[in-house]
Amino acid sequence: MSFIDTPKKLPSVDRLLNDPQVTRLVSEFGAPQITQSVKNVLQQARSDILNGVSIDSDTLIDNVDADLARLHKISLQRVVNLTGTVLHTNLGRAALPESAIAAMSEVARSASSLEFDVTTGKRGDRHQHAEELLCRLTGAERAIVVNNNAAAVMLTLNSLALRKQVPVSRGELIEIGGAFRMPDIMARAGCKLIEVGTTNRTHAVDFEEAINTKTALLMKVHTSNYAVQGFTSQVSEAALAKVANENEIPLVTDLGSGTLINLEEFGLPHEPTVREALSAGAHLVTFSGDKLLGGPQAGVIAGRRELVETIKKNPMTRAMRPDKVTIAALCEVLRLYSNPDKLLKELPTLRQLTRDVNEIEQLANRLAPIVQKHCPRFKVSVCRTLSQVGSGAMPVDQLESAGLQFTLPGTRRSGKALMNLALAFRELPLPVIGRIAENALIFDLRCLEQEVEFVDNLGALKLQ
Ligand SMILES: *Cc1c(COP(=O)(O)O)cnc(C)c1O
Repeated sequence: MSFIDTPKKLPSVDRLLNDPQVTRLVSEFGAPQITQSVKNVLQQARSDILNGVSIDSDTLIDNVDADLARLHKISLQRVVNLTGTVLHTNLGRAALPESAIAAMSEVARSASSLEFDVTTGKRGDRHQHAEELLCRLTGAERAIVVNNNAAAVMLTLNSLALRKQVPVSRGELIEIGGAFRMPDIMARAGCKLIEVGTTNRTHAVDFEEAINTKTALLMKVHTSNYAVQGFTSQVSEAALAKVANENEIPLVTDLGSGTLINLEEFGLPHEPTVREALSAGAHLVTFSGDKLLGGPQAGVIAGRRELVETIKKNPMTRAMRPDKVTIAALCEVLRLYSNPDKLLKELPTLRQLTRDVNEIEQLANRLAPIVQKHCPRFKVSVCRTLSQVGSGAMPVDQLESAGLQFTLPGTRRSGKALMNLALAFRELPLPVIGRIAENALIFDLRCLEQEVEFVDNLGALKLQ
């Protein structure tokens, strides 16, 4: 070991590259990358020395190692979602069924019939793979899949309402996390938003009065992430459809989550289905693939033939088209929907949303003593909690659930200790994500399906 206190004494790039400890890394990381890392490390060392910090020559090689390791650390990785939010946008929303995963890797691995008709040997259409399945499940005449529901809304408005007006109820001008605000989307889609009614009450006559020769369509937005309660009135799909038909303009409904089945049959709260919206008179419906549907990130536009055809001709459709992997997954998920018994068993979203609270509590009872052994400083107990659907679906409904609660008894200010505990769980080889609430770390076990793996993972827990 020697200390370097002037840039002149730093080894050259070549000398460091020829160090046996560095050359050993070449087969794994490749020469160009190692050269870059060596340059980075020497530049940092030079600036440290100029700032009066002397450098230990041995650390230079460690730093090259660290620079490469940082670059190769997997950033998008699997985690265990114990937040209690089943469709967590930050955690990638819906977990996919095995059949969809198999179909995704199959088409990813080799060439596929994405835009090729195997029967005729002629050019095919990527939009056609999911179309018939979607139409059968929703009663739509035509359907098209794009990258997500935001794209579906954008594309619909841009295709049907460019430089025209679109009346929307003030109570439905929603913001859905991050940057999806209906008024902004409308502006970027090139159409003019006409606000009608008031925040809590809008009537059919408000729409009638807003309609003029520049009106392109009527828009209804399912207020998916909040509920207006109390003295409220919204115009139903059927009433809006009547106004739209009388004025010979289409009614477009953005269902947000949307669902293909009656969730009440599975003991869940009611969520409007795509079929309901269409049979109530909506001419087009847009919805997400990875919310309640339980599929991959995608957006669907479904409804009247001539409207979907107009949309397909918009050059922007090309900019929003889904890839083969998404299409493969979506088709498999849609196939599951044709068999309700299979669906409940095989679609993770539905399986997790309908999981019985007693079963979750039994899992908590089994895990509590094991987890307690790994966290002796904390009190680990079984608790009842409430899960939510997430991604804006069913905002006011919560699902009875159970889980583990970590507390520090006798400590009023346990915030820091709980944050460190949560961090230790996030730093596991398979990161575990809970939520901190009321002086406790809570693990809602609704979405934990791999019990043995969870227990094995705990062996690596490093608590301070
Ligand atoms: C979630 C949501 C969207 C956006 O859907 P993404 O699939 O996330 O792009 C649009 N509209 C409504 C009403 C929503 O709930």
